Amino acid sequence: MAEHIPEPLQKKLSDRLAFYEDLGIRLFYRDRGTADAPGIEQGFETSGAASRSNVIPQEEPTLPNPARKPELPKAAHVVPPAASKATSLPLPAAGPSLFEAVNKIANDTLPRVREDLGECTRCKLHKGRNKIVFGDGNPKAELVFVGEGPGADEDAQGLPFVGRAGKLLTQMIEAMGLQRKDVYICNVVKCRPPENRTPQPDEMEVCGQFLARQLAVIRPKAICALGSTAAKALLGTKDGVMKLRGNWTKWRDIPLMVTYHPSYLLRPYNQNAKREAWEDLKKVLHYVYD
Ligand code: URA
Repeated sequence: MAEHIPEPLQKKLSDRLAFYEDLGIRLFYRDRGTADAPGIEQGFETSGAASRSNVIPQEEPTLPNPARKPELPKAAHVVPPAASKATSLPLPAAGPSLFEAVNKIANDTLPRVREDLGECTRCKLHKGRNKIVFGDGNPKAELVFVGEGPGADEDAQGLPFVGRAGKLLTQMIEAMGLQRKDVYICNVVKCRPPENRTPQPDEMEVCGQFLARQLAVIRPKAICALGSTAAKALLGTKDGVMKLRGNWTKWRDIPLMVTYHPSYLLRPYNQNAKREAWEDLKKVLHYVYD
């Protein structure tokens, strides 16, 4: 007898399938060997879940298993940062990045950074904020996502990327076979800019020292800059996402990939960009987990 799927779950599944369709992922499978592993595959089991070996055509991207190193198709275009031409990108067109000047602090920790930030009033953004959004996730993450700044939902909850764009970022992370708790997520500025405007240079500079300390403490294997504000702040470049995305560059000695901000991907006329973002994230996955 066919199992009844409750309506909210049906809707969730259908939204998620549409999202994967947008990314260009069309085939879902369940790995019997890890059936009890938590992860997205559980939500996509088709009737008579087939074993990996007899259903995955070569050209289709597979969904990685979050309980292990994510598996991805070997893509010819994936170039490790060390060999990538992007490592020699003319980095800051506008001089050193905001964070170059921040000295490294010996034995720094995330709680210490948070303590030093305190109930910050260093820039004007503090006037309109409800909660400081420091960052969230695994303090030993191998991958850190850096966004622009909190929006209304983040400001209310004190957590990064919990609104609409956050939902999409979570889906992207899960499409990578990871969970939010596996990665670390933070922003260039920690207080919500009024009307969600772009953070101004003085605000980014003041707040940037704390972001730099967070990144230096976590020392991830790779950083993913979401959108042009994060790219500009971390790289000190004036170039936009279109130019920077898809190629490895570096923040200090840590490989950095720029990709589209999830808010940009939410706009209906930017659907092709979702596929490009997925290509960027596959490169990140290969580098971090291969
Ligand atoms: N957009 C961002 O850049 N950061 C958030 O935390 C939420 C939305």
